[in-house]
Amino acid sequence: MLPVPTINSFVPPHRTLMGPGPSDVYPQVLSAQSRPTIGHLDPLFVGMMDELKALIQYAFQTENEMTLAVSAPGSAGMETCFVNLVEPGEKVIVCRNGVFGERMRQNVERIGATAVVVDNEWGEPVSPQLVEDALTAHPDAKFLAFVHAETSTGALSDAKTLCQLAQKHDCLSIVDAVTSLGGVELRVDDWGIDAIYSGSQKCLSCVPGLSPVSFSAKAVEKLTQRKTPVQSWFLDQSLVMGYWGSANSGAKRSYHHTAPVNALYALHESLRVLAEEGLENAWQRHQNMHQTLKAGLTKLGLTFVVQECSRLPQLNAVYIPQGVDDAQVRQQLLSEYNLEIGAGLGALAGKAWRIGLMGYGARKENVALCLRALEEVLT
Ligand code: PLP
Repeated sequence: MLPVPTINSFVPPHRTLMGPGPSDVYPQVLSAQSRPTIGHLDPLFVGMMDELKALIQYAFQTENEMTLAVSAPGSAGMETCFVNLVEPGEKVIVCRNGVFGERMRQNVERIGATAVVVDNEWGEPVSPQLVEDALTAHPDAKFLAFVHAETSTGALSDAKTLCQLAQKHDCLSIVDAVTSLGGVELRVDDWGIDAIYSGSQKCLSCVPGLSPVSFSAKAVEKLTQRKTPVQSWFLDQSLVMGYWGSANSGAKRSYHHTAPVNALYALHESLRVLAEEGLENAWQRHQNMHQTLKAGLTKLGLTFVVQECSRLPQLNAVYIPQGVDDAQVRQQLLSEYNLEIGAGLGALAGKAWRIGLMGYGARKENVALCLRALEEVLT
């Protein structure tokens, strides 16, 4: 026998989370998560899932029937879209303007498909002109994939225009909305998005570990006409739908995997909070808080990585002033103010901080704390 480990319960401190995610979780979401666990095929739970589906449809602004929450984080949502839709040998135009576009490319190549990469500088949005050029040069491409809100830089791309280009060239669009959902305008049906995924831990201010996804009718058709089976059993949506089913269809749900029951209570509550506020009000609140933060950061002499016209309100990447010790400042914010801001990622590692204003975190109190703490630490 191994010796019995003597370990105390883990009691985390109350941090203010202003990094790139996870964001501060709504208190009512945390309490929803601690409600009693019931069976994942219990009729009451199944009823909750029908509501959850309607709430995800509202957040995405879609009537897509295939709309659900993948029982895993945003990376699994990304993989769900690629493994279900893209088959070996097919061609995908992948836009890369930060870390997550590069991950999309890796997903495509692991499938045995071909990625045609459209590169933009870090900090810039995806260029519709470069995408149009790539789509014209590759008429055999079947998909256009891009990140709506690049969390590694804070750049917002024009999803509406990019999806119009995909349609013009007869491609399905695959869109990463992990950081955009709930924080900036996003209209899946109006913009003609075919496959989209997000994450629970950013502007939804839910606990991490779930990924809302939605497939259009055209995407579902592509899935059902596959010549090869989806290589991931767990992420195969044709199997998962046997559990999620059609809302109110009365069809019997069958076991696929044990759903993360309590985490789904949390997502239900966070989306309910979003619906209560109203999507447009939530988008405006993120913008208002960004303007207040921007004014304060500019007073401190900090400059933004992304040009104002394509800057995300919920992810503020600012250059670290010369001579300032990146790690030491972030550590001091954490230990003295219980405040987390994000380090730079990839090409911006050591060069920028990423300050998140996501969901419940996009509040006056958070902005004030961040500005006061940065001022005290930097001067
Ligand atoms: N895509 C984007 C744009 C992200 O910001 C992230 C996470 O930060 C992911 C995908 C991956 O999500 P997760 O970390 O939940 O797996």
